[in-house]
Amino acid sequence: MTEVKRLLYEGKAKQVFETQHTDEVIIHFKDTATAFNGKKSEDLMDKGIINNAISNILFHRLEKQGIKTHLVKILNDREVIAQKIDIIPLEVVVRNIVAGSLAKRTGLKEGENIDGGILEFYYKDDDLGDPLLNKDHIELLTLATKSEVAVLEGLAHQINQYLIDLFKSIGLILVDFKLEFGRYKDQIILGDEISPDTCRLWDSSTKRIMDKDRFRKDLGDVTTSYREILDRLKQLEA
Ligand code: UDP
Repeated sequence: MTEVKRLLYEGKAKQVFETQHTDEVIIHFKDTATAFNGKKSEDLMDKGIINNAISNILFHRLEKQGIKTHLVKILNDREVIAQKIDIIPLEVVVRNIVAGSLAKRTGLKEGENIDGGILEFYYKDDDLGDPLLNKDHIELLTLATKSEVAVLEGLAHQINQYLIDLFKSIGLILVDFKLEFGRYKDQIILGDEISPDTCRLWDSSTKRIMDKDRFRKDLGDVTTSYREILDRLKQLEA
């Protein structure tokens, strides 16, 4: 029974509605694409449908690997029922190849391999521009405890290992991606989404950019590339 739909929160790419169950929400994937802290924004037809489908396949597969996610049920092509989690205001970024802000901040060359992958934490705070935080900052701001951070690190590495291999099997290189977690009862659960909006993915043979960088850099064919990723994932499911 999920008829009651009061909007709880609206983000750049998703809306969150309450349901009759206090511990569940409906997440609605919008078509809006944004970049540069919302300065660039555009509606891309069906992007929400494609990202919902991709994220659901990935979350379902991660569940099978023993990773707890917020996904309860797929409602329709744009909406899922998810566990209402107490979101930890951190973006956990995993990097396997130098790109984006890491290249800018460090001067490392884009495309350079990062052996074993590295993690970064960003503070989810639009007004501050989502700054990079270290573990001391996280403790200082009481965003998560030391042991919670250790759990986040373990989960992020485990998810990374699984996703690297999964994408490799469909001819894609997982360059980097962002995860968000939340608390539910005494557990830490994967929330938000994993999609080409939140990952960098390059075609293994041509190195073609298949992710949101197509939007950020005005490369065109954004949803065509997202759909290509979905089609490759669907072939695995078949
Ligand atoms: N990312 C994201 N949301 C953000 C910031 C980053 O999903 O608010 C993802 C981004 O798509 C990329 C990875 O995290 O896959 C690393 O992003 P980076 O720090 O390089 O930032 P960018 O240069 O993309 O803004």
